[in-house]
Amino acid sequence: MVQRADPLVVAPPNLTEEAARRSLLEHFGVAAETLTPLAGERDQNFRADTAGGQRFLFKISNPADDRTILDLQAAALRHIQLVNPALPVMRVLPGLAAQDHVAVTGYNDQPYLARLFTFLPGRRMPNDALSTAAIRSFGQTTAELGRALRGFFHPAADYEILWDLKHASRVRELLPHIGDDGRRQQVQRVLDRFEANVAPVLPTLRAQVVHGDLSLDNVLLDDEQRISGIVDFGDMTHTALVCDLAVAVADVLHGRDDALDAAEAMIAGYASVTPLEDAEAALLADLVATRLATEVAISAWRNELYPGHAAYSETGEPGCRAFLDGIEAAGFDAAGRRFRDAAAGLPYRGVPTADLLARRRRVLPSSPLFYRDPVHLVRGDGAWLFDADGRRYLDCYNNVPVVGHGHPQVARAVAAQQRTLATHSRYLHEAIVELAERLTGTMPGPLDAVLVVNSGSEANDLAWRIARAATGRCGALVTGHAYHGLTEATHALSPEEWASGEQPAHVATVPAPDGYRGAFRRDQDGWTQRYAGLIDDAVLALGDRGLAAMYADPGFTAEGILAPPPDYLAAAAGRVSAAGGLLVADEVQAGYGRAGTGLWSFAASGIEPDMVVLGKPMGNGFPVAALVVRPDLLAAVPRQTELFSTFGGNPVACSAALAVLDVIEAEGLVQRAGQTGSYLRQGLLGLADSHELIGDVRGTGLLIGVELVTDRQARRPAAAQARQLTEAMRQRGVLLGATGPDGNVLKIRPPLVFGREHADLLLSRLDDALAEMR
Ligand code: PMP
Repeated sequence: MVQRADPLVVAPPNLTEEAARRSLLEHFGVAAETLTPLAGERDQNFRADTAGGQRFLFKISNPADDRTILDLQAAALRHIQLVNPALPVMRVLPGLAAQDHVAVTGYNDQPYLARLFTFLPGRRMPNDALSTAAIRSFGQTTAELGRALRGFFHPAADYEILWDLKHASRVRELLPHIGDDGRRQQVQRVLDRFEANVAPVLPTLRAQVVHGDLSLDNVLLDDEQRISGIVDFGDMTHTALVCDLAVAVADVLHGRDDALDAAEAMIAGYASVTPLEDAEAALLADLVATRLATEVAISAWRNELYPGHAAYSETGEPGCRAFLDGIEAAGFDAAGRRFRDAAAGLPYRGVPTADLLARRRRVLPSSPLFYRDPVHLVRGDGAWLFDADGRRYLDCYNNVPVVGHGHPQVARAVAAQQRTLATHSRYLHEAIVELAERLTGTMPGPLDAVLVVNSGSEANDLAWRIARAATGRCGALVTGHAYHGLTEATHALSPEEWASGEQPAHVATVPAPDGYRGAFRRDQDGWTQRYAGLIDDAVLALGDRGLAAMYADPGFTAEGILAPPPDYLAAAAGRVSAAGGLLVADEVQAGYGRAGTGLWSFAASGIEPDMVVLGKPMGNGFPVAALVVRPDLLAAVPRQTELFSTFGGNPVACSAALAVLDVIEAEGLVQRAGQTGSYLRQGLLGLADSHELIGDVRGTGLLIGVELVTDRQARRPAAAQARQLTEAMRQRGVLLGATGPDGNVLKIRPPLVFGREHADLLLSRLDDALAEMR
């Protein structure tokens, strides 16, 4: 790599007007009527007007830019004209001998290279005059220029310039020139981050020749504030494409009070032309800060080299400092998120929450909403959710995003399949077969057949039809406050939802194994067996109907997250089987690794259910559910009945489901759920020492219930306090829920990417909220 001299260290050319006029005529055949000197940081520029009304830019180059650099620029300009003639770049006008540049002689016989270009219209504008639309458009033009240069190469583009962000580490050498301690430390912090987060990734990003210096000094704007001329290509280099955008954001926007907001507009404009890759978007805030820090450091150095030199002290350095301060004040992570969101072009954001709520209530009057003051979410990331005002919430509630909100691998799988093929399961396709094979591979031996459907309700509904067909019976058994779905058949299996007197005749209930407040307590010997014994009575209550199936959620989530010891389910399975019924394990809540013991929560009990229902987390948010069933049971369904649902098992849904399985495995999420869950339960037990309201802490893995009581002796449910606490936690940026027959059990069921740091945050906020309630 060739090191290029700093053009500012080399004085700009200083041809007399007369010499310029002579050269122009001699070499280019242009007779200038007037020559107007134009501002230039390192070159000497003239506007040449002829008597015939033609107008040119005559550029005498800084001697630091040798012939190869000028060749590079001319070649780039020609390439741009070829691939995107609409881009407002200057045309290179050859000399009389068809050469791109000619040698001219200046003061003291110093030779310079001179070039002639078409003159571009437009004017310069201060950045605070730019509208948001203009800033967005600036981003678009930056992207268009980058696209036009995509296929361009020139050996001279390999030159090293300090301004190229990939060499930012070299800015460290300039640190001693920054006099102010605080400022120097700030630049150092930015460079530390650059070296830790950016430098290792930059070489892996899309790279090409870029303009590299799209500042307001290097463009002209028209009356609509759109770029009408890109006039300086002096910093072109081969580097990561995203650096071009970072430079534009830093250089155009520094000094604006709303630099961060404006940056979002520019980034969004850029991404509307050239979508950013995730890895590029993730680096934007650091790259912008690095550019600003570079400017601060280089200004300090130059000011020391040339004290009082107007060209160097009249820089935008104060604006750079302000922008840097703004990024630090917002926090690198927060600024980074904003930039990344802007690049992603969030489809929904910014609608005022109150208006949205009113609209929703008009057209969706039956849809329930959490919280007195509903949370208006626009984005999720890992264990975090973000509202329309950019506030973030720790998600301790949602099990659907099992591998974390917005997991890129799932998103990519869905997008790729949606683009490629989205049909239905009546055509042969590999995804549904692979998914069924993967699922049955995780289940006990006899569970070898799969039906892929669209919701937990649908899977439970089908299980009910199969159970009736296979057993010839029509009675069902569920626990006293269970939930298994919203269809007619599954509503019948969901006592949690029954209005009074609504219990169907074919459904019997059995008390759930509540060892804290129920009939049998954990400190009584054989309490789980006694609960299981109640199943026999319930079967009797079904009378002639007989038991077709018992449905059980192994976590007993709706019952208050009872998470009984494994021997309860083992005993229950034995009783159901003895009664000739089938056992349906509803893993919609507790499955997919949540229990921390394996993918399926029933497995810890050593049972072999007859059917297993999967839902919620299965597609990380993409609707997909499944029923895994013994093939002999399936065979009992009448042949006339086609078990097909249009969207069930479509290639997109199956791709999502396969990606979820891959990520759970690759990221070791089952083990993580077990470890984080134990840690969190320990912490919650610690809180119980100082907060009387906590009566019980229980659960497995990351399915945790915290039962609130007004009186630990009488174990009276504290339902109002549970509601109040979920509101108080929401105010503190933590989302959780309340469940159980009395609604007094805090429900903690986060995405499995939840880690100790998240657990610590939850614990400290809960401690605080509980203290406030006392
Ligand atoms: N079973 C259980 C245990 C559930 O929690 C739910 C949903 N809360 C369902 C079934 C129904 O699933 P879906 O909402 O996908 O129909």
